[in-house]
Amino acid sequence: MSRVGRFLRSVFLADILRGLAVTLRLYFSRKVTVEFPEKVQAPAERFRGLLRLHRDENGEPLCIACKACQRACGQNCFDIEGKKEEGAKVMRPTKFDWKLDRCSFCGLCVEVCPTNAIRHSHEFLLTGARKEALFFRLDGMYLTGEALQDHLCGGCRRDR
Ligand code: SF4
Ligand code: SF4
Repeated sequence: MSRVGRFLRSVFLADILRGLAVTLRLYFSRKVTVEFPEKVQAPAERFRGLLRLHRDENGEPLCIACKACQRACGQNCFDIEGKKEEGAKVMRPTKFDWKLDRCSFCGLCVEVCPTNAIRHSHEFLLTGARKEALFFRLDGMYLTGEALQDHLCGGCRRDR
């Protein structure tokens, strides 16, 4: 650009006006972000959130303590024991420990589970105040929503 052109451009504030036009266009365009944590956007369907155990429609646990997930996990997240009660058709876990702080959310345990008992949830608020909260026992593997948040932060939500 010639010197005259540069001079005219600076006199008429062309660059500033162009910048303001961009600002105005973005200001009135559709927002793609939300004001977290006041607003929470649902994650994508295939999102791999915190692992949770599931029950069938009658409330019976789906886990049969086969330990396939434990064998598949390269991070050594699980410690599972099971027992078959007299007259029962399948084994049930008597111990199901899971260490969230070791998990890489690779999904191998979900893939190998023969009963679809363990699945990735859409839980993604995983902050907590205590390291012990990253350790889950059998009952804790069924917690979801606010109960799960209470487990993770040890009641810190109530202190806010
Ligand atoms: S998601 Fe991967 S790392 Fe996490 S518990 Fe399952 S197998 Fe282990
Ligand atoms: S969660 Fe699935 S793979 Fe793991 S022990 Fe239970 S039934 Fe077996």
